[in-house]
Amino acid sequence: MHLLRNPRVFLPLLLISCLFLASPAEAKKLKVMTTLADFASLAQTIGGDHVEAESIAKGYQDPHFVEAKPSFILKLHDADMLVVAGLELEIGYLPPLLDQARNEKIRPTGAGYLDASVGCDILDRPTGQVTRAMGDVHPYGNPHFWLDPNNGRVIARAIAAKLAALDPAGAADYAKNLAGFEAKLTAAEARWTARLAPFKNAKIVTYHSSWPNFAKAFSLDVVGYLEPKPGIPPTPQHKLEIINLMNAQKVPLILMEVYFDRKDPDFVAGKTGAEVVMMPPSVGGEPAAKDYISLFDVDVEKIASALAKKK
Ligand SMILES: [Zn+2]
Repeated sequence: MHLLRNPRVFLPLLLISCLFLASPAEAKKLKVMTTLADFASLAQTIGGDHVEAESIAKGYQDPHFVEAKPSFILKLHDADMLVVAGLELEIGYLPPLLDQARNEKIRPTGAGYLDASVGCDILDRPTGQVTRAMGDVHPYGNPHFWLDPNNGRVIARAIAAKLAALDPAGAADYAKNLAGFEAKLTAAEARWTARLAPFKNAKIVTYHSSWPNFAKAFSLDVVGYLEPKPGIPPTPQHKLEIINLMNAQKVPLILMEVYFDRKDPDFVAGKTGAEVVMMPPSVGGEPAAKDYISLFDVDVEKIASALAKKK
């Protein structure tokens, strides 16, 4: 005992024990990088204290056109796992970042790579030859598939399995966190479906084709887009066609992703009497959409309250 009362012995011992107590827990955190904020939210929910998840794209940015900032190279170099949407959503910025990051673990062939689209319900799959004609940015099917809560469930399960494979010691925690998330999601789905039930098959027009999975999940009918093709800005001719279509079919809503300019939606709304609803398509797209489940809370409520006014 008296040895420990001696500061010359005690202080170095204390320092050493602090180092040993503090560092292993810190050092063991898995670094999960994701392209989308939605995947980072799911990875953090499933990984809990074992992981540190961060996305490259923020929820208020167009996920097709993300700046390949050099700061991401170091983060990707240090990452244990990478979650991507696939379907060439990240074709414009991820390949050069991965080349420079020099981290085999998170390359498509590496153990830490997860393509979130695998196993999900992917819509608008091409039936013929794949082409990027006219700048179509959805050549392999619609890459906004995370906007279907059941796809969120599939992605969460894939993340849990991947985390368990990379870190078997944490497997029980990942399974527990996944079960907790699925229970919350199932309860939330019942709430969202009930909120939108009075507006079954309501017709909507959207700016970009971000919402086919969302519309399918909640029985909404997307009848047109402000973009003539995904990734191509509205042309005068196309705006005229959309105005005619909306007037003929009495379409009450135009959904627009938060990162587009309001000018064209407002113009079309002015000619049709429709309402423009700003929708966050990803976690962080607006402050209230702080995680995967609250993203849907926000979007469902925006559509329901706008349609209720139009009824
Ligand atoms: Zn898109």
